[in-house]
Amino acid sequence: MKRVGIVGGGQLARMLALAGHPLGVRCRVLDPSDRPSAGEVAEHVQGGFEDIDALRRLAEGVDVVTYETEGVPAAASEELAQHAPLLPHPRALSVASDRLEEKRFLRGLGLATAPFVRVESFADLEIAIERIGFPLVLKTRRHGYDGRGQAVIARSSDAPAAWERLGPSALIAEAFIRFERELSVVAVRSTSGALRAYPLVENLHREGILVWTLAPAPRVDAAMQGAAEAIAASIMESLDYVGVLTVEMFQCGGELVVNEIAPRVHNSGHWTIEGAATSQFENHLRAILSLPLGSTSPHGASVSVNLLGEVPEIDQILALPDTHVHLYGKVSRPRRKIGHVTLRAGSHDEARQRLECLMRLS
Ligand code: AMP
Repeated sequence: MKRVGIVGGGQLARMLALAGHPLGVRCRVLDPSDRPSAGEVAEHVQGGFEDIDALRRLAEGVDVVTYETEGVPAAASEELAQHAPLLPHPRALSVASDRLEEKRFLRGLGLATAPFVRVESFADLEIAIERIGFPLVLKTRRHGYDGRGQAVIARSSDAPAAWERLGPSALIAEAFIRFERELSVVAVRSTSGALRAYPLVENLHREGILVWTLAPAPRVDAAMQGAAEAIAASIMESLDYVGVLTVEMFQCGGELVVNEIAPRVHNSGHWTIEGAATSQFENHLRAILSLPLGSTSPHGASVSVNLLGEVPEIDQILALPDTHVHLYGKVSRPRRKIGHVTLRAGSHDEARQRLECLMRLS
C-alpha cells in the first residue's frame, strides 16, 4: 500500500483520496478546520500550514507529500521536504503563488501574457494606467482566487476606489484582454519526464468563479491543441515538474494568451472523472508515485457544472441521462463551491442541451 500526504483538505484533496482508493493508495490530509471536505474519506491531521508538529505528522511514514493549494508557505515546504519527497517541486509554488513572479516566469519562457506592471503605490497605478491604458485589471499578487482581490478599472475615476480596496498590498496591473473565450489545458508529467495532456477545454467564468467547463472544447484544431500542449510542456520542463498542472488561457483569434498556472489538480479538470479514460486525480497520484501515466483520451463530450452556495435536491439532476453528481460534504455558504455535476453526451450539441436542462433546474 502507498501513502500520500496532502497539504489542504478541501474538495481537491477529497477527490485525490477517492481516486487513490482503488489503487491501494491511502491519503492523509493536513487542514486547520475541524471537519474538512477530505476528512470524510482520508485520515485528517488538524493543524495550520505553519504548525511544525502537524507538518511532521502529515509527512510521517508517507511515500510522498503533495498539495491541493498554492497557499503552502515556503517554511512548510522546507519542513516537509526534510521528511518525505515533496511533489510537485516547491519552485512551482513560488512561481504560481505570486502573480507578478508568474507573469515574469511565463514571459521568460517566451509565452504570451497580458501586458503587466508592478504596482506598490497609487503613483505606480497611475504609471500603469499610462502604460497599459483602459480597461485594466488590478489584482493582488498573492492570495487571489475565484475572482477575489481583483478590480477592473475602466476609467481614471475608478482608480482611487480600486486602490482603496486592494492597496496597499503588493499588486499587479494587467491589460484587460478582450478574449473570445477562456480555455485551459490540464497536463501531467511523471518522475520519468513522461508527459500527457488532456484536450483543451472551454471554461465560462462569472464574477471570477468557474460556472461550467465544456470538454473537449469545440472548434479546436490540431494546431491549437499542439500549441496548448507545447505551452504546458515548456512550463513543466522548466520547473522539472511532477504531477498535474493546469494552464488557464484566453483565446484571442488563433493566439493563446496565458492567464495563470495552477500547480495542482484543477476545477476545469473535474470532467475527467467520468469523461476521460483516466481522471486528473488518478493521473496526479500515478505521476507523484512514479507509476505509469494513464490515457488522457476523452469519452465523447462532457460538461461539468459547479454547484455554488446551496446544496440542491439531487433527485431531478440524477434523472437527466448520463449525469454524475459530486457533493463535497461542505457547509453551504453564498458562492461557495459545494459540489459539481458532470453530464456526459455523444456530441457538443447534446452536451449543450443537457447543460440547458440542468441550468433550468437550478
Ligand atoms: P484569475 O483570478 O486571474 O484567474 O481571474 C479570474 C477571471 O477573471 C478569469 O478567468 C477571467 O475571466 C477574468 N480575468 C482575469 N484577468 C483578466 C484579464 N487580464 N483580462 C480579462 N479578463 C481577466
